[in-house]
Amino acid sequence: MRILLVEDDPMVGAAVQRGLRQEGHAVDWVQDGVAAGLALADHPFELVLLDLGLPRRDGLSLLGEIRAGGNTVPVLILTARDAVSDRIAGLDAGADDYLVKPFDLDELAARVRALGRRQRGQADPVVAHGRLVLDPAAHAVALDGEPVRLSAREFALLQALLEQGGKPLSRSQLEDRLYGWGEEVESNAIEVHIHALRRKLGSGWIRNLRGVGWFVPEDA
Ligand code: CA
Repeated sequence: MRILLVEDDPMVGAAVQRGLRQEGHAVDWVQDGVAAGLALADHPFELVLLDLGLPRRDGLSLLGEIRAGGNTVPVLILTARDAVSDRIAGLDAGADDYLVKPFDLDELAARVRALGRRQRGQADPVVAHGRLVLDPAAHAVALDGEPVRLSAREFALLQALLEQGGKPLSRSQLEDRLYGWGEEVESNAIEVHIHALRRKLGSGWIRNLRGVGWFVPEDA
């Protein structure tokens, strides 16, 4: 998932970015409310992790503007404020979920997965496509019941394609899902990952639509 992390505490921000990248997410990190507003205006994010106490602009004010503008991106509040009234204010301003600091990174990762499922209208946490089963929580893929070992990027790419329900994703859409700002992306990076996936799974699972992108065929 392409995630915007808005957090001014350098230790918390670095830990969250590192932890979620290890889960295969592309995480862009900004440290104040104004930068967050600019980032949201410019990029299609799939999730926002939002601290409330921020320099230059408060998280609640930013959240109000996001929702007033009709942006339905899921927002999870990360806050040190443990007062119930702050959490209520956040949820009422349009947040989807919250975590009170200090929180456990595994719990954050699980809430991120849950919000992603809800956003896609997906009930089952496991993504099954015929003989292929992908389990986001366990980071496991099985083909005919046999485990397939994938790198974090290969896993994220396969998950993105499977969640599309047969619709293609372009190179730039896939790069957006897999890489955050400042991460070096080789021009053929997506092809390299697709090649590896085809080698490990068999060539029929991922097809190319010339000039459009890649997709997992319904009958694969
Ligand atoms: Ca803060």
